[in-house]
Amino acid sequence: MTVKKKRLFTAIDLPVSWLDEIESTSDRLCEQDVRGRFTPRDRLHLTLNFIGETEEEDSIKRLLAALDRSEAPWISAGSGGLFRRRRGGDLIVWQIENHPALSTYQGLEAEALASLGIRRDRRAYKPHLTLARDAKGTLLGSPELVSFFGKPVAFQAEELVLYWSHLVNGRLVYSPIARFPFGGETGR
Ligand code: ATP
Ligand code: MG
Repeated sequence: MTVKKKRLFTAIDLPVSWLDEIESTSDRLCEQDVRGRFTPRDRLHLTLNFIGETEEEDSIKRLLAALDRSEAPWISAGSGGLFRRRRGGDLIVWQIENHPALSTYQGLEAEALASLGIRRDRRAYKPHLTLARDAKGTLLGSPELVSFFGKPVAFQAEELVLYWSHLVNGRLVYSPIARFPFGGETGR
């Protein structure tokens, strides 16, 4: 039997109030002639670990199920701004405060995935939401940019989602393939 490779990543979903806030922020930026590939509502999420192309879906699911998620992390918005990329265009991001339970869980997950041979990102984890890629516009270099971002109400993550990033009829889709609750018993 051939196992199909899948492009996977783990993430936390956002509440409707955050999706609304992000959409209105993106609309306000567009009105200021900011251009870029804005993330559509159905692809907004907080990435924890990017796994990449893998045939290890089953092992990854088993491994994720066994991790300690007893403490549900708080997701709280920090400042909005730019991540400048040397290669590829700049990203418009909304930074997320590094709540201890968030970085602890993210690190635990990264370490566990590394035991399956999944390469760990060498850069330190900087939690953020990507609002747009290849972003361009004069507002982006201005100190006024931060004032376009509101302050969505912090929430506690309910679950960790394993996503499959793939094309469906030529459109990029993130399909949830497994969900693991926070705040409950561990899977061990
Ligand atoms: P595109 O690559 O077409 O711009 P995308 O980045 O949204 O689209 P994927 O590349 O499949 O789609 O990425 C899925 C998720 O994983 C996104 O949140 C993306 O930011 C994140 N991601 C992708 N590559 C990496 C990487 N090398 N390191 C960290 N996170 C990544
Ligand atoms: Mg990508």
